[in-house]
Amino acid sequence: MLRLECDSCKKEFSTETLEWRCSCGGILDLHGGQPFDPAAIERREHSLWRYAGALPVDYNRRVSLGEGWTPLVSFPLSREETSGDKRAGKDPQLFLKLDHLFPSGSYKDRGASILLSKIRELGIERIVEDSSGNAGAAVAAYSAAAGVAAEIYVPADNSPGKLAQIRSYGARLVPVEGNRSDTAAAALRAAQEHYYASHVYNPFFLQGTKTFGYEVWEQLGRSAPGAVVLPVGNGTLLLGTYKAFCELRNAGLIERLPRLIAVQSAACAPLAEAFESKPPSRIAGKTLAEGIAIRSPALLSRMVETLRASGGAVIRVDEEQIATALRMAVGRGFYIEPTAAAGLAGLLSYAESFDTAGHGERPSCVVGVLTGHGLKASEKIAQLLYPQEQEPRAGSTGHETKGAGRK
Ligand SMILES: *Cc1c(COP(=O)(O)O)cnc(C)c1O
Ligand SMILES: [Zn+2]
Repeated sequence: MLRLECDSCKKEFSTETLEWRCSCGGILDLHGGQPFDPAAIERREHSLWRYAGALPVDYNRRVSLGEGWTPLVSFPLSREETSGDKRAGKDPQLFLKLDHLFPSGSYKDRGASILLSKIRELGIERIVEDSSGNAGAAVAAYSAAAGVAAEIYVPADNSPGKLAQIRSYGARLVPVEGNRSDTAAAALRAAQEHYYASHVYNPFFLQGTKTFGYEVWEQLGRSAPGAVVLPVGNGTLLLGTYKAFCELRNAGLIERLPRLIAVQSAACAPLAEAFESKPPSRIAGKTLAEGIAIRSPALLSRMVETLRASGGAVIRVDEEQIATALRMAVGRGFYIEPTAAAGLAGLLSYAESFDTAGHGERPSCVVGVLTGHGLKASEKIAQLLYPQEQEPRAGSTGHETKGAGRK
């Protein structure tokens, strides 16, 4: 029987509960699902709903904008793109999953579609969420599709451009004075009255992000890659992916889990610190990868366990690596936001690590992901790629414009 269970005191809750957390402070997760059944994959469904049999919501009442089943493309690197001496041995084959191609422009739609499907099933009419970024946009988009009223709490000093998408979907923006934690606190107060559709705490969100792992497995000819490299802030993609591969292993469909490699910005790397058992730094620097700059992620210990269980690791990327990866992506025609470029920077760094001696087993296949679309951050991308350029003058010919990807 499907049920929610507190990860700390193990108290059980019905899947209909309106609680978003256990009274002991523990976090709820879904248990008791059926083993993954490959025969239940609906091949005519070209969205993540092909896995409806493994999703804990009613397919016939789903809230869908056609999300998922994103392309998995081969991403070979040239010699110049991986610096350093190659050691003998075959390079791993690299793939990128194009999760910036989602209805709201980020992979967060995976979680939002399942979460809002559940919310509509429960007959809930009003929800609250806190995020000024892609999670807010995804929840607002699927709330619009579901006909649910959404209140999204955001820091008051956020750049207005980021909020335009959320507001356009008809969500009510609630600006909160102060920092991110003040915003979260205000959302929690509101959550005492309305359902808390949190992308971090709500277990149904992870039930959506897990479809990333199913898709990778199916698109690789029903096999697991040696490693998956993911940008990580709150860990919703990491934890969902881990869930999927555990289910596939428990169903006997893969032999072992892929190594899960988490990518963090060097300016804000609490997972890296926890994984290395270092004390957390007090201050976080500024980073281009604002979407993963989460100073104290709620699911930190679970993320550390996940990395250890999969034989994974954490890679820190600095601002220069992120900018280089962004330049490389757009230079190849992939228009992604800087946070997604951090994930790509991690993939490049991981691929390079096979050049150096002393590294463990060399996987034959490594999957990375582009998590967010560049159209979300066009101004920031332009500033980064053309820092010296003035505002374009009226009547300017644009002849002097150089290709972004060229050096
Ligand atoms: C949310 C997000 C991430 C990281 O996801 P977490 O769940 O916070 O780990 C990475 N990239 C983009 C573009 C995102 O929006
Ligand atoms: Zn508990």
